[in-house]
Amino acid sequence: MSVINDTKAIVIGMWTTWKHIFRRPVTLQYPEEKRIPYPRYRARIVLTRDPDGGERCVACYLCSAACPVDCISMQSAATEEGRRYALWFRINFSRCIFCGLCAEACPTMAIQMTPDFEICNRDIMNLVYEKEDLLIDGCGKSPEYNFYHHAGIGVTQRRGAGLEEKPPVDVRSLMP
Ligand code: SF4
Ligand code: SF4
Repeated sequence: MSVINDTKAIVIGMWTTWKHIFRRPVTLQYPEEKRIPYPRYRARIVLTRDPDGGERCVACYLCSAACPVDCISMQSAATEEGRRYALWFRINFSRCIFCGLCAEACPTMAIQMTPDFEICNRDIMNLVYEKEDLLIDGCGKSPEYNFYHHAGIGVTQRRGAGLEEKPPVDVRSLMP
């Protein structure tokens, strides 16, 4: 009986081995062959612009507060018209764990994750990205979104009349 069981086990094992011999290999010869990650892959972070070319970041510090490893820092400033912006903005990618919490917290969609994972560097100081390294010319995801048409000093219409905005609720109607 044990001979039959042993033979059966060997045949099943060999069958598994032979099955894989004729399968297409999944290993990619990186860096010659590159795998394109999915668009939602979380890698290098960028700062994006409005459709009109303005900086989306209003230096609200929410991304910095949400970051679990404290690798975002900035200094806020304001133009003469009152529009806030980041005087400087820094991300230390040597500490970043690419969790995406900063992008989730951002109310203006300024900070976004990209699928660019090739930012390794032997010199750790080169992983500290300044605003000029982070700010891109385009809008990234949500290309039509313009925070200043929804909120902030760019809003001139009365409350409830903005884009995708619902009329304000009369709190007295909520009384029991
Ligand atoms: S992805 Fe996570 S760790 Fe990296 S900067 Fe954003 S919040 Fe911080
Ligand atoms: S990137 Fe977004 S969350 Fe961070 S400071 Fe700028 S507007 Fe605020």
